[in-house]
Amino acid sequence: MSDPELTAVNEKPDEDRKITEIFGENVFNDTVMRQRLPKKVYRDLKRTMDEGRKLDPVTAEVVAYAMKEWAIEKGATHYSHWFQPLTGITAEKHDAFITHEDDEGRVMMDFSGKELVMGEPDASSFPSGGLRATFEARGYTAWDPSSPAFIKESSCGKILCIPTAFCSYTGEALDKKTPLLRSMQALNDQALRIVRLFGNHDAKKVTPSVGPEQEYFLVDRDLFMKRPDLMFAGRTLFGAGAPKGQEMEDHYFGVIRERVGAYMKDLNIELWKLGVTARTQHNEVAPAQHELAPIYETANIAVDHNQLVMETMKRVAVKHNMRCLLHEKPYAGVNGSGKHNNWSISTDNGINLLDPGDTPNENMQFLLILSCIIKAIDTHADLLRQSAADVGNDHRLGADEAPPAIMSVFLGEQLDDVVTQLIETGEANSLKQGEKLKTGVRSIPDFVKDATDRNRTSPFAFTGNKFEFRSVGSADSIASPNTILNAITAEAFCEAADELEKADDITVAAHDLIKKNLREHHRVIFNGDGYSEEWVKEAERRGLPNIGSMIEAAGALTTDKAVKLFERFRIFTRTELESREEIIYETYAKTINIEAATMLDMAGNMIIPAVVRYSRELAETVNAVKAAGGDAEVPVSLLEDVTVRLKEMKKAMDVLEKARQEALSITDAKEQAFYYKDKIKIMMDDLRKPADELELIVDRRFWPFPTYGELMFEI
Ligand code: ADP
Ligand code: MG
Repeated sequence: MSDPELTAVNEKPDEDRKITEIFGENVFNDTVMRQRLPKKVYRDLKRTMDEGRKLDPVTAEVVAYAMKEWAIEKGATHYSHWFQPLTGITAEKHDAFITHEDDEGRVMMDFSGKELVMGEPDASSFPSGGLRATFEARGYTAWDPSSPAFIKESSCGKILCIPTAFCSYTGEALDKKTPLLRSMQALNDQALRIVRLFGNHDAKKVTPSVGPEQEYFLVDRDLFMKRPDLMFAGRTLFGAGAPKGQEMEDHYFGVIRERVGAYMKDLNIELWKLGVTARTQHNEVAPAQHELAPIYETANIAVDHNQLVMETMKRVAVKHNMRCLLHEKPYAGVNGSGKHNNWSISTDNGINLLDPGDTPNENMQFLLILSCIIKAIDTHADLLRQSAADVGNDHRLGADEAPPAIMSVFLGEQLDDVVTQLIETGEANSLKQGEKLKTGVRSIPDFVKDATDRNRTSPFAFTGNKFEFRSVGSADSIASPNTILNAITAEAFCEAADELEKADDITVAAHDLIKKNLREHHRVIFNGDGYSEEWVKEAERRGLPNIGSMIEAAGALTTDKAVKLFERFRIFTRTELESREEIIYETYAKTINIEAATMLDMAGNMIIPAVVRYSRELAETVNAVKAAGGDAEVPVSLLEDVTVRLKEMKKAMDVLEKARQEALSITDAKEQAFYYKDKIKIMMDDLRKPADELELIVDRRFWPFPTYGELMFEI
């Protein structure tokens, strides 16, 4: 750009620039489009974005040209269709803008409308769960104009990234974006029917909004590089607890250490450039654990942005000589990481359908919507649980950590009281009010408390004007949870609209339906302590599913109930669902296999040799003490302790390796996955136990890799 002022601004180091200058500078956003596109093209493109219409080829050509010019001015050399295959992370293949030379031998910069709208990466090496035999390797990426293109800066240079959906030759979704977009359409169609019933004829569109709070750990790069488990599995597979963990409760919201602060500052700048609204940052519960939360936005953009957040977190960590761990459970014994998925639904004319207003007991539309969501969660608790399942998250959900694997809804005192009144008497005439908060300090004014305290143990909590789905894993894409939330809500809305559209008196009919939904589904509401043993028993009595692992949850995708739901709203076909279930088993088996192989490698090549060296030193000590006529009791007993555990380790290794070979020979994906869960995982624990005990006995000089203390505190 030749504007001297802009050039001057851009030459300042990023950290001296204002947020408003930096924010979105690498995004082909509305402002850029308005500046660079002819008015008519801009209007057509906006309509495509807002109303989900198809873009005509002529418009695409003009947009592609403008996008290319903009990107090249910003220094981009390549473009890439950026997509989200079923690996859960993003994929990209870069193509330079260059084409053949002109008559004078100069290279030409080109990027056509067709290249913008469609791409054809070879799909054969992405997980497809048998959807696509290798001889039909074609996969297509198609531009999602509702998510803006952006320029990614990395050591590769600057790449224009075009968010795309990824489908097979026969049109089946091979990615996470396509079903998400389909679920948003379904929710839009059904939610519009509901708001129309209540007299809203202005709204043209209803969209889900999502704000994901992302937790992560940081670790020093040099320490990380000494731990094959962190390198290959993303989590520690060995490690005795450090003398100090999180018991002092001094890390949560604690002062951010200088090195971490410098990282966060850089991370924010990189995210702001990409138009990601990184807003909140703080230390989390475990040592070296942190959180970043953006401002919420339309679901599919939030999903794309969360992918960028995860990727940028990793990239910026490298620059700071650190590594970012997104795994759900990097360290045993301290909190793991999750991703709170805040979700609400609003109309394009600015009404949040989950806003109860001042008098929720009188707000018929809100109560109907709330009752539909409660019904949806109860009916499809298994699907919601499945949507948050990934291999790492098995260490949280259903294990000894928050939140529980039982899906329930927390409403808070005020709404719970309204719901109880409705169930019991059919009327809700009173409303619990927030009281004054009195601090007892005269200079601090009293203020009105929220009518409800927070509940941190609920997997699906109503928090004022949104639901917070807390089960999602920190490393996982948020596409699936939101696809499921949209889909099951769309179904409940559809069933409500089918009934109410026929009614003579909408007020009476809606009132009856709210009561019916609540009476039939209130078992899913739980406001107590979700971590308690009593709740597990109580939930069982209520008949709520408690699904302990990712592979036990996978079958939820292909029940008759699920297939009916997804086919009805054209979100997944049965084939797509079956393929996704298959991929879950494959992913699980492969992941546990890598973990087991890594453990065997570390045990055999690092721990045992180190312990043997230490044993030799002990034996020499024993001999020397004895030769000098001294009392060798202590070194002898130490040597015994070491030897017992060494033998235990060796035995556990042999058992594990044999079982691993057995597992590898199983051809049925589901059977194989269950073998890993029921057999291999237990053997891995058996190998870890003596090794962790040895870590506490063996002279630190011999221990072959950094300890928990170093990993979590040396940063
Ligand atoms: P809380 O403290 O209740 O968890 P915050 O205000 O800290 O709420 O917000 C947490 C996350 O929820 C943020 O990412 C925020 O943008 C998001 N959020 C807030 N309102 C909504 C909404 N209506 N829909 C979706 N997400 C929202
Ligand atoms: Mg929150």
